[in-house]
Amino acid sequence: MVYAAAAARRMVDAAERVTVLTGAGISTDSGLPDFRGPKGLWTRDPAAERASNIDVYVSDPDVRRSNWARRAEGALWADVEPNRGHEALVHLERRGKLHLLITQNVDELHQRAGNSEELVVEIHGTTRKVQCLACDYRDEMEAALARVRAGEEDPPCPRCGWLLKAATVSFGQSLNPVDLARAERAAVECDLFLAVGTTLAVSPINMTAPIAVRSGARLVIVNGEPTEFDSLADVVVGGSISEVLPVICGLAALGG
Ligand SMILES: [Zn+2]
Repeated sequence: MVYAAAAARRMVDAAERVTVLTGAGISTDSGLPDFRGPKGLWTRDPAAERASNIDVYVSDPDVRRSNWARRAEGALWADVEPNRGHEALVHLERRGKLHLLITQNVDELHQRAGNSEELVVEIHGTTRKVQCLACDYRDEMEAALARVRAGEEDPPCPRCGWLLKAATVSFGQSLNPVDLARAERAAVECDLFLAVGTTLAVSPINMTAPIAVRSGARLVIVNGEPTEFDSLADVVVGGSISEVLPVICGLAALGG
């Protein structure tokens, strides 16, 4: 694995435009629970999984009320901080190599770590904001939760009166076509594609990896378990992401 990390590091050193795709694995070391594991959010709380389906959310006021109540009391991810893996990608940006950071995560930890807003594409949205399901109203999640705590069980859109929801892409909702096009373009334009903490199983964003390879980029995969596209990769690095990614991105010394 030291060999693989060293090889990946050399590829990053040689690259000029690195497009990065991150998944849940980079946030695990920040203490974020996954969804479907033994201690996953949905395993422990099946109602939360039902609320993640857009048709159920729209049609069932009980699901919405309990969803808002859970968010308001839970402070779900309030104490979660970025880890060394996130810092490594900030370092990549400071070196002038980061072309685009595409994330499947909805935790905003890349921005909180210090990556520039304009270089981050949240392909599955964010739980830290709310949006209206009818108009283009958008606000901080905290503003909506303040209304819930003040007694509104299912706070409507202040502009048009329709439903508010966390600004995530729920099951049954399409990705933002502008974001998807931007991600695909960045896959074509990069000379190195770095996939981190994702099994590359979620379509269509996983296809950015083969798109990059087809366009001539090198592919480095950093993940604790096998991925769909390991066979396409120039290097696959296993192990703890918060330990190996700083090495690969030049934030930590090799073997240090
Ligand atoms: Zn609205």
